[in-house]
Amino acid sequence: MVDRIRRAFDELEPPACPICRVDMTWARSTLVAEDAIRHLFHCPIAGALVKEPPKSN
Ligand SMILES: [Zn+2]
Repeated sequence: MVDRIRRAFDELEPPACPICRVDMTWARSTLVAEDAIRHLFHCPIAGALVKEPPKSN
């Protein structure tokens, strides 16, 4: 499980902050389903949080 998260993290590109457009920093990753990992990003400037992907189906 940890290996899966690490592999997903290697392919990860941080999203741009919706407020200040800077690259966000990774905060944490959570395994939300068998094959679905959700990443949480944090903006160091505005403090905004973004989840990638935004929704799970
Ligand atoms: Zn920001």
